[in-house]
Amino acid sequence: MPYQPLHRSQEQTQVLQQVLNRGQLAGGAGVCVLDLDGCLFDSRHRQIHILREYASHSGDAELWQVQPEHFTNWIMRDTLRAAGVPVQLAEELEEFWFERFFDGEYVLYDHAMPGAAALVHRLHRSGCEIVYLTGRHREMHSGTEKALERSGFPYKIPRTRLLTKPSFEQDDTEYKNRALEEIATLGESVVFMDNEPANVNLFHARCPDALVVFVETDHSPKPIHAVGSLPRIRGFLM
Ligand SMILES: [Mg+2]
Repeated sequence: MPYQPLHRSQEQTQVLQQVLNRGQLAGGAGVCVLDLDGCLFDSRHRQIHILREYASHSGDAELWQVQPEHFTNWIMRDTLRAAGVPVQLAEELEEFWFERFFDGEYVLYDHAMPGAAALVHRLHRSGCEIVYLTGRHREMHSGTEKALERSGFPYKIPRTRLLTKPSFEQDDTEYKNRALEEIATLGESVVFMDNEPANVNLFHARCPDALVVFVETDHSPKPIHAVGSLPRIRGFLM
């Protein structure tokens, strides 16, 4: 399911309006739990940067052809094929990619999703606590803080916090499940937004009264589908 950051529709506007209403209804006591990769941030640009860095070193000029729309899943061979790049390069650059994609410095190449920061500011202004809950691990914490600040998300001000995984190896959904205990001490979670079906299903099961929004950008190849009744958005533009 490819990203569509500039997507707008009546349905999406309604969902985003519901998100804002939930924040307001909570009357300053609600918690909004927001994911980063594939949700508030478009991580394809980090990938493109890494591929171009590799191309500069290796001389594989075709890699410069890769554009955001060539990412349709998490399989590098498919991305390269879509861009008309020889697919065998996928194996050659795998290690180079892996060493950089999970590095805190490289998250600065992500782009904020259009409209995302404005939405989070509105939630924060309505009195909500903003929790950025990400599968990024602890070593990516300070880079992620910088990225939040540079892209204009409310951060390092009261009622904002970033939660990152203690270790790279920990499963994202298992980590988020545990983090819900800590989040519950902050108040009632009223809004969740995430692009991973397993995560939105978890939030829906654990907090059935919250508004859980499935962000349709891309997600892991796990054979799990988001609960059909959950509202969906493709982006954050109203
Ligand atoms: Mg995500």
